[in-house]
Order: sequence, then C-alpha cells, then structure tokens
Amino acid sequence: MRTVVDAIIGEVYDRCRGNRDGALADYIPELAQVRPDGFALCVATTDGHVYETGDADTEFTIQSISKPLTYGLALADRGPAAVAAKIDVEPSGEPFNEISLDPVTERPRNPMINAGAITAASLIAGDDPAERFERVRRCYSTYAGRELGLDRRVYESEARTGHRNRAIGHMLRSFGIVTDDPDEAVDLYFRQCSINVTCRDLALIAATLANNGTHPRTGRRALAPEHVEQVLSVMTSCGMYDAAGEWITQVGLPAKSGVGGGVLAVLPGQIGIAVYSPRLDAHGNSARGVQACRELSRTLDLHFLHVG
Ligand code: GLN
Repeated sequence: MRTVVDAIIGEVYDRCRGNRDGALADYIPELAQVRPDGFALCVATTDGHVYETGDADTEFTIQSISKPLTYGLALADRGPAAVAAKIDVEPSGEPFNEISLDPVTERPRNPMINAGAITAASLIAGDDPAERFERVRRCYSTYAGRELGLDRRVYESEARTGHRNRAIGHMLRSFGIVTDDPDEAVDLYFRQCSINVTCRDLALIAATLANNGTHPRTGRRALAPEHVEQVLSVMTSCGMYDAAGEWITQVGLPAKSGVGGGVLAVLPGQIGIAVYSPRLDAHGNSARGVQACRELSRTLDLHFLHVG
C-alpha cells in the first residue's frame, strides 16, 4: 500500500513539476518574498500514514485555509443557529475579497469569502483579543497535531496594507453583523491568516476533517462530529471562491486554498491531500496546486461522485 501510493504521488509530482503558471501574491508585500518554485504534495490517511514529496517541511502562512477552521470554532462557540443568523452558506461566485453582502439577507454570503471569515472571527469566544487569538492558534494546532505559531512579518505586512479588509469589517459593523469593534475582528482575521504551516501540517489538518474531527495520530478532537459536515459542505460549495464550480467538476472534493500557496482537499472517511506551490492563478488559488489535485483525483478516482 505504502509503495503504491508513494509511487502515484511521485508521478503526479513529476507531471506537475514544470508548471510555472501564475504569480506570487504581492498585495501583501511579505508574500512576494517567498521562493516561487517551492513545491510539495502530501497525503495523510485517516489511519495516520503520511505520504510526502517535495518541500514538505517548508513553512508558509495558512492564509484563507484558516477560514473553515475558524468557522468550525465559531460553530462550537456559538452553536449553528447563532452562526447561521450572521453568515449564509451560498456560493458567491465572487472573488474572495469582494466588499459585498447578500442584498436580501444583508449577511455575508458564506464563511469562505473575507466578509464571512471576518464575521466568523468576530464570533470567537474569549475575554480579550489575546485570549481569542490563543484559542484560534490552539485549535489549529490540534488539527495539525503540533504547536503552530504566528509569522509576525506576514502579519505586520497585512496589518499595514489590509485596507480592503478593514473596509469589509466596517461595512459588517454598519449592517450590525459585527457588533463589537470591527478592527478587533479584522486583526484576529489577519493573525489567523498569518499562522505558519507546512504542507505536511495541511495534509494532517485535512485528514483530521476526513477523520470526522479527530487527529489521526494524536487522537485529539479538533472539531465535534456534528460540525464537520457543515464545514465540509461550505468547503465543497465555496472553498475555491469563483472557481468552485470548475473545481468540483474536475477534482470533486471539499477543499480550501490560501494565497500563501497552500491547497487542501478532503476525501471524507479516507484521506487528506495538501499541496504547496505559491504561484497563484487569477482566482487566488495555487495554479500548480489545482493541477496536482486534479491529477491526483483522476489517477486515484477520488471524485466523490465517481460511480465505480
Ligand atoms: N489574508 C488574505 C486576505 O484577506 C487571505 C486571502 C486568501 O488566502 N485568499 O486577503
């Protein structure tokens, strides 16, 4: 089993290696400083095997892959009804940073775009900003099975330049979606996006979701089973933003990308997949990461609607 999977991952890796499409994110200045050719592909199974190839130990910031994790923590902290009163679950078909609310419900359309993610951050319980961030950091660490930390340079870079996200925060405040200080919610969002992970961490985070919320190696619970389905559902419909439709037809797995170059995908009950490759396509998704997931899904018949 191990050798067959290793061989397939190696083959997919080699097939994608020459793909230099896309460009580094540079709207967060610090993200433009990374090595553009970094490339890793990791698969973790729900029984705890990790298969890896390439730069599996390179650290990069989790960025928007944080969104489903914080959404899950908000569900645990406030309950599904209170979260649903603030954040819808409809695909937006819009870019991740769109300054928009649904015109009818006046809520963010889903938790995977920035408006919904900043709202989810505002729902995290804790006495003060430091405690709220520490709860987020510990939650992500439980998913990964090791202690994760903040990349201060990326955080400061985004905090300095993130005017669009601050505009979204204040829009949310003016519509009564965020009820406390919107700058605090946006700051928590910037911090959660700046948590460092490796591709191996992302594969284990995905495998934890695939394993119904329990880390396959540590046995620790990151998310209650009753919330896992909700998180995977919004990843399925909204995780790849305005490329969600193409992704679901071609890869067919719940997934989430981040502008740091990570992508993760989940085959419930079986495996977590992660790719790191920081050149992004026009949607802000890793160009080579999307290709690698597509090739892996085809080679292993992973599409969740695949019949026999
Ligand atoms: N921190 C980034 C932002 O809000 C995350 C975006 C992303 O990864 N798609 O712009």
